[in-house]
Amino acid sequence: MRRATLAAFVLCTLTHAPAWAQKTYLHCGRLLDMRSTKAQTEMTIVVEQGRVVAVQAGYAMGSGTDKVIDLKNKTVLPGLIDCHVHMEGETSKDNFLKELTENPADVAFGSLDHARKTLLAGFTTVRDLGGSGVNVALRNAINRGQVVGPRIFTAGRAISGTGGHMDPTNGYRQDLMGVPGPADGVANGPEQCRQAVREQYKRGSDLIKIASTGGVLSVAKDGSSAQMTEEEIKAIVETARDLGLTVACHAHGAEGMKRAIRAGVTSIEHGTLMDEETMKLMKKFGTWYVPTITAGKSVADSAKIPNYYPPLVTPKALSIGPKLQTTFGKAYKAGVKIAFGTDASVFRHGVNALEFQYMVEAGMPAYEALRAATVSAAELLGQTESLGTLEAGKLADIVAVEGDPIQDIKAMQRVRFVMKQGVVHRQE
Ligand SMILES: [Zn+2]
Repeated sequence: MRRATLAAFVLCTLTHAPAWAQKTYLHCGRLLDMRSTKAQTEMTIVVEQGRVVAVQAGYAMGSGTDKVIDLKNKTVLPGLIDCHVHMEGETSKDNFLKELTENPADVAFGSLDHARKTLLAGFTTVRDLGGSGVNVALRNAINRGQVVGPRIFTAGRAISGTGGHMDPTNGYRQDLMGVPGPADGVANGPEQCRQAVREQYKRGSDLIKIASTGGVLSVAKDGSSAQMTEEEIKAIVETARDLGLTVACHAHGAEGMKRAIRAGVTSIEHGTLMDEETMKLMKKFGTWYVPTITAGKSVADSAKIPNYYPPLVTPKALSIGPKLQTTFGKAYKAGVKIAFGTDASVFRHGVNALEFQYMVEAGMPAYEALRAATVSAAELLGQTESLGTLEAGKLADIVAVEGDPIQDIKAMQRVRFVMKQGVVHRQE
């Protein structure tokens, strides 16, 4: 009854079309909708209630209260997707100490800045591959509109074995190490692996992240040896599949990658020392490769600063980091499926678009690099119905850059307009 009265009042008093019927007309000088391989010129995208309702030739106008946004001197693309970030942290000389001094609330406040910078850089969606659990709360706060940031699909806390890349107490004094278990992301044997996956599901993670080999930034000796058995990874993949979750697998060494691919993981992250046999296996199993070249280059750079990393980390950063770009070039030429991902946090948030440049330098055509961050990334996320291209029915995640990225991929570092689900967050 009260609702009916209110509706009548609203209808009688409004002289303009109600806000929920307002449309936005984006005039796009050059449009890469990522459906056709060629850019279209002088196009209009019509947005209503957070979705694209039409993409049409010419500069169309609406009526009454409809809004027009002029992007006539820009290149317009779908919102970008970074498939490997960590929203909670960011590189610094004090990171190891911060593990012992920061409370979850400190991490949360820090992550607000990372989220905002990522969105303003044109990345409207990210896959967060591990943190303390603050990443789940951040995703929820963004979804509720309380905080500005990209749409997040998060792995919550990542999983590995005792002393593995994801063991949160690596490098601690022994009396502080304790015995972290499945709830902390440390699992040994198939039973604990199943439990660790269910724990993440229960906490609201969107996917599972594991490490089948050592890593660069964990305070542990080896960066590439296999650290999970195939049986353990299988238990993780099967449990995740039952719960409707995919599995992203951090790996630098070939043996750990092969075990993970055969066990059925969805993506290999980094993949630094992948050999030809691994590439063949990835093609056979349809496994995605998320390269994170930017991370490789930046850890190698940071390692040259004296005492930037703990002593165990420095040699790993220097030997593994620089290899990623070459590996990426080989994997691309071999025909491995590639989705864009940077590992932002290992370097500062907001410069994710550097990765495009590194991909193109390694031999990938610019259009393919853009595809990796749109169509392919949406496919990896299982979100092709709402993300990845600009066409009627998709979410209105739209960015515009200065220049033509097909001619000069560095244009992706000049984002001037960002719309996420119909809301404008950046306009210059
Ligand atoms: Zn990572």
